[in-house]
Amino acid sequence: MSLAEKLTKQAASYSGQMLEMQKQFTGTPALGPQNQGQGELDKALLAEKWLTELGLEITRYDAPDSRVECGFRPNLTACLSGGDGPTIWVLSHLDVVPTGPLDLWESDPWQVRVDGDKLYGRGVLDDQAGIVSSYFGLKALIDLGIKPAGKVGLILVSDEETGSEYGLGYLLENHAEIFSADDLIVVPDSGEADGGLIEISEKSILWLKVDVYGTQIHASTPEKGKNALYASARMIRATYEVRDQFPQKDDLFSPPGSTMEPTKKEAGVPNVNTVPGQDTFYVDCRILPGIKVDEVEKAFRVKFQAIAEEEGVRVEVERVQGYQSPPATSADAPVVTALAKAIKAVTGLEARAGGIGGGSVAALFREKGLPAAVWATFQDTAHTPNEFCLMSDLVQDAKIFALLFTAQAD
Ligand SMILES: [Zn+2]
Repeated sequence: MSLAEKLTKQAASYSGQMLEMQKQFTGTPALGPQNQGQGELDKALLAEKWLTELGLEITRYDAPDSRVECGFRPNLTACLSGGDGPTIWVLSHLDVVPTGPLDLWESDPWQVRVDGDKLYGRGVLDDQAGIVSSYFGLKALIDLGIKPAGKVGLILVSDEETGSEYGLGYLLENHAEIFSADDLIVVPDSGEADGGLIEISEKSILWLKVDVYGTQIHASTPEKGKNALYASARMIRATYEVRDQFPQKDDLFSPPGSTMEPTKKEAGVPNVNTVPGQDTFYVDCRILPGIKVDEVEKAFRVKFQAIAEEEGVRVEVERVQGYQSPPATSADAPVVTALAKAIKAVTGLEARAGGIGGGSVAALFREKGLPAAVWATFQDTAHTPNEFCLMSDLVQDAKIFALLFTAQAD
């Protein structure tokens, strides 16, 4: 039997233990203080117990946070030394998002329910699937007495769901020495259902709030007022004109261009016979990394101001959120090629390197010049009621991690 065959067979033997780990983690809710929780300590201690069983060298990095009872948010690394190859890190997060309305759940979100291949519960996918698959991928090597190609480190962080200031952000600010630019960094926190997408880039995000002020008047005498809704509608229609000022395309992404969509609309006058004197709407922009967020914001201000002047109203544009994405991880980066090779060996798929419109914690690595790839075989259920993952995906990803950890040894 080849090394790859041995490893994948071994990884496939852990489904019972994977379920047990999922049950324990799901029964230990880790909600940050912004989500009315007491943080991640209990789950971190539970994880430490499992990691200790593998004989890994564990280091804790506690980020002080007075909002939780214990006074800190735990982060930990668990390492196994190996050959001369590069260090491989797999970063998963401990925290989960709240359940949302319980009546939308078909079972207790804090208790794993098994239905065939599906495991239901808050956190089973996001991000316990990452923790479980990387843990059992590494366990396969250890149980077979196989030394990894280089050092392998599992990282479990807090605060991913609420900004990462006390999680990866804290590690990169205070313990930057942990990482080097030669390291291979995998973040199993998003992906596609076939496991074939390796995410290497993210669009920048810009949210704008647009307030339009006219003059309220009785609807029978509109000439005496200024209709804010009418002016606002013209601005909403002009959103695509601004978008078309930025026609760049990048085939890493789907869709390949920047998106700029009018989205939220606040309620206006409650009655039909009043011309509204005020109107508010929002625009969500997902901008290709090569375009400056500031430039897009400026283009919106210019366009909306011009319409406001024509309509005789006043407009205020406010940036609600803005984030300039760092440059992409190269599609030829070692982490991408090694991952693609392991994916191909296990699934037969040619993985594709691509970008997404959302944001992930990998951007924090990229900001520091550390090439990170986001990858996992993921169902589309993160943050939803009745979140689930597939046991077969956990097993498949554990196999892929096992091969990745030995990649340089071939
Ligand atoms: Zn996540």
